[in-house]
Amino acid sequence: MTRFTLEELQITCPELDPRLRKAYDEHLLSEQWDKKKQKVRRRDGKRCQVCGGGSTFEVHHLTYDRVFVEKLSDLVLLCSSCHRKVHRNNLSDDQRDIPCPGNENTDGRSDE
Ligand SMILES: [Zn+2]
Ligand SMILES: [Zn+2]
Repeated sequence: MTRFTLEELQITCPELDPRLRKAYDEHLLSEQWDKKKQKVRRRDGKRCQVCGGGSTFEVHHLTYDRVFVEKLSDLVLLCSSCHRKVHRNNLSDDQRDIPCPGNENTDGRSDE
């Protein structure tokens, strides 16, 4: 069971204020964020919420309204390939960095 379609997420994909970028990068390394990621993983049953599968998972922000103090409902587990597709849609060429915790595995090892 999946909760989102790729299209839905592409349309709603938020943009992070560039001024928050540095603090955000640090946030992603925090223990607090690590715990949050694990909760999202557990809630979403280690399944990509777009394709229902996946082996490498990443957490996507549905909104940055509460960035740093996100609610679990602001976050969704995606596989790395769907996650990339979500962001590819709204990134210009000079903005290739994914403004989301997309560049890291959720636990550093593959689940397959
Ligand atoms: Zn997927
Ligand atoms: Zn994302």
